[in-house]
Amino acid sequence: MTTRRIAVRAAWVLGEREGQQRLLPDHTVVVEGDRIADVTREPVAGAELIDVPGGIVVPGMINLHNHTLNAPLFRGIVDDLPRSATGPSKVYTILMPMGGMAVTELAPDELADLVALGLLEVAKSGATTLVDQFRPAQSCILDLARDMGLRFYGAPYMFSPPDAKTDAKILGSSKGSGEGQESFKAFHALFKQHHQGKDGRIQVILGPHASDSCGPEIFKEVDRLSRELGILATTHLAQSQAEVDAVKQRYGTDCTGYMQSCGLLRDGVIFAHGVFLTDDEIDRIAKAGAAIANCANVFLRGGRAAAYERFAARGAKVGLGTDAERMDFIAQMRTSGFVSKQLTGRGDAAPAAKLVKAATRDGADILGRSDLGRLVKGAKADLVAVDLMQPSIQPVRDPLRSLVWYASARDISAVMIDGKLVVRDGKYALGDERRIVERGARATRKIWELAASKGNMPRELMPEAIGQ
Ligand SMILES: [Zn+2]
Repeated sequence: MTTRRIAVRAAWVLGEREGQQRLLPDHTVVVEGDRIADVTREPVAGAELIDVPGGIVVPGMINLHNHTLNAPLFRGIVDDLPRSATGPSKVYTILMPMGGMAVTELAPDELADLVALGLLEVAKSGATTLVDQFRPAQSCILDLARDMGLRFYGAPYMFSPPDAKTDAKILGSSKGSGEGQESFKAFHALFKQHHQGKDGRIQVILGPHASDSCGPEIFKEVDRLSRELGILATTHLAQSQAEVDAVKQRYGTDCTGYMQSCGLLRDGVIFAHGVFLTDDEIDRIAKAGAAIANCANVFLRGGRAAAYERFAARGAKVGLGTDAERMDFIAQMRTSGFVSKQLTGRGDAAPAAKLVKAATRDGADILGRSDLGRLVKGAKADLVAVDLMQPSIQPVRDPLRSLVWYASARDISAVMIDGKLVVRDGKYALGDERRIVERGARATRKIWELAASKGNMPRELMPEAIGQ
């Protein structure tokens, strides 16, 4: 049996020359099986042709931080929300309780419907690799990601059990996750069942929730396990002032010092957000080789800048994530860029080429994957073709600037993951898109109704306040 060959041809391919990303005009990416066999300007024979005239092919992007379940669940719930509705941190007052409700109150097939809606958005987002933190009770995401064709790094949550030091509100957030040793038991079971190894499309990694919801006993065991198993660890760090204050009060140090004391200030560890880190902490993170997942959209929603450039300018490894605000990864690059320009007061801060590199090559390097995030011979065949022949994009002067500043995920015409076309002609190719959307929306509404009836919905969003 001969290996299936697919050729993806476009006006520009973001390939590489001498280890640097370079736009290659009128090139074709030739795929055999799950690998890139060639990137060439020559005509290609004996292959199925995916032609994107006037378009650009870029490496599949790397979404370093997300909670897929939350994207549909919080849509319209946390937008335009006053701080008076959330207290010091909406994470523990609204987001986590509602997420917990979804995994404990929905029937298994409804929960799967909700998650599938989020994964469908990811499949069409431009990101081909997804790092997702989720509750073990929502482990259906591992099967769904596999079946829906995604490259997935699943990090089941870990929490500390309640003690005198821990805010009761934080612990109430762990619903569906287990606490302490229960967290590790759940991790080991999922790792055994789903982890496909270092090159596998589905991987299970370590995901302690945050520095204010996990004690040293959790983080130290995460450090030990990640070294023993050779897998990544990721956690939320310095995502609110309340978290920074709690860490200082409990451990007498800053968030970065706390991670260092647990062995986690190092390569192979991804910190989500870091918005409340000091410059000195960013310098220590950069020096130690740990990475930041920068999620600009989700913070901007609450009125806070999370600028890519703040971390990049200090030499930290930084990639991009969506954290469930929206999964459109082109929009994510754009917001990261705009916020960086606003922060620095410079139009040339975070230029398009740098943002694309952060979203592809840098993200892949943070995962320790030299076979992802680049379109070169021998790399995994993960790529995204974007149709630039749009009224909002044409004419094209610089394809990467057109992509970052003027395109959106809706302009994506093809997505390939592991050599398989997941999106074709702008449509999800492995299932009934409409059906997934309808079923997912139905399951989401059920949680909204439940949250409203139990008083777990902010007053500003109760049916009577929004005219329903
Ligand atoms: Zn998050």
